[in-house]
This record gives sequence, C-alpha cells and structure tokens, in this order.
Amino acid sequence: MKNIILMGPPGAGKGTNAKRITSFYKIPHISTGDMFREAIKNKTPLGELANSYMSKGLLVPDEVTIGLVKERLSKDDCKDGYLLDGFPRTLVQAEALTKLSEEINRPITSVINIIVPEDILIDRICGRRVCKVCGAPYHVRNLKPKVEGVCDLCGGELVQRKDDNEETLKSRLEEYHKQTEPLIAYYNKLGVVTDVDGTKDLDLLLEDIKTILKD
Ligand code: AMP
Repeated sequence: MKNIILMGPPGAGKGTNAKRITSFYKIPHISTGDMFREAIKNKTPLGELANSYMSKGLLVPDEVTIGLVKERLSKDDCKDGYLLDGFPRTLVQAEALTKLSEEINRPITSVINIIVPEDILIDRICGRRVCKVCGAPYHVRNLKPKVEGVCDLCGGELVQRKDDNEETLKSRLEEYHKQTEPLIAYYNKLGVVTDVDGTKDLDLLLEDIKTILKD
C-alpha cells in the first residue's frame, strides 16, 4: 500500500511532483494548501480563517488543519493509498497523523523529502504562476505555458499566488525551518524517509521516486 508524505520547503516542487506521482499510481493527492485555497475561493468561514494566516506566510492552526485532513483521509478513495502534500507541517500534526493513519489502518509507508537549495527556492517561488481554474503550476522562465498567461491543460488564466512574494516567502521559510524541518528526524526514527534531489529534471525525478516506492 502507498501511504505517502511528500515533504520539502516552499518551492521544492511538492505540488508539481505530487500531481505526477498520483497520476501514475492512481491515488488521491491531498494538499492542505489547495484545500485552504479552495475554501478562500468559495468564501467559506474556513477560507476566511485560513486566509488570515496564509497571507502572512504563517501556518494555519493545528486543530483546524488536522480536522480537515481527518475528514479527507476517512473518505473511501483513500482506502488503496494516498499522497499528502504539505501535511504534516508541525510535530502536533505529525503525531495526530500517526494516530489517525493507524486508526484507519493506513499507516504512513514512505516520506519523500525533496531537497532544493534556498537560492533556487526563492527564484522558483517568485517566478511561479498557477492556473486559476485547475491549479496547474508554471514558471515564468523554467516552465512556460504554450501560450503566455494561459493554462496548457484547461485554458484557464495563469495568476501569481498571493503568498508567492519575497516578503511572505521569508515567513514561510522561517516557519518551515522552525516547525516542519524537525519532522524529518521524527520520520527518520520510523525509518521511512528518503531524500530526493528536487533540482533534477522532472522525468528523472519521477523515476527516482518510482524506484523508492517500488515495494
Ligand atoms: P502550500 O500550498 O502547501 O505551500 O501551503 C500554502 C499555505 O497554506 C501555507 O503557507 C500555510 O499558511 C497553509 N498551510 C498549508 N498546509 C498547512 C499545514 N499542514 N499546516 C498549517 N498551515 C498550512
């Protein structure tokens, strides 16, 4: 069974690689960031709350985030595996996930840790564009769409995420180093972490990940 966590700092390529991995293995891609952005788009109370943290580059409170993931993981489509992207981000979340994933009999089998040097992260985040409709990621230089400003996949408009600017990125990186990076040690103790090189060509990286997830 493939119960996977994709970890790495903002800009490591979690979303991009998550989409490629989940379309290969046909398992659901669970991105807490995407769930919060959807709630913001729909102007729900959860969206309003999440936005007040996200716009400052801060983490949304644990109890809210854990509740959301708990509900999502209990859905039927997760019964043959799942990939978490952007969760857990704190020790409290990781501990809750350990408990929850065991309760539903789908314990974490692999943590893929994407490594990318900080100067590349900054360039990736500041040049990132995303499709307003389907969320597909692009970059102004490294991953251009066929037609400028238009999504190759669905024709939607490409926009810059509100939190993809140098100022907010600083807080996001600080949050990552302080709260999320220590989780690597937590999962290392469970013997499930493998580092991958996030600067590699995406097809080569997918091959590396498939080798890691083979059994
Ligand atoms: P992402 O799309 O994963 O880069 O997440 C964007 C933003 O959503 C983060 O900077 C946080 O504000 C919020 N967020 C996403 N996942 C979590 C999480 N697991 N815990 C707390 N906040 C989160």
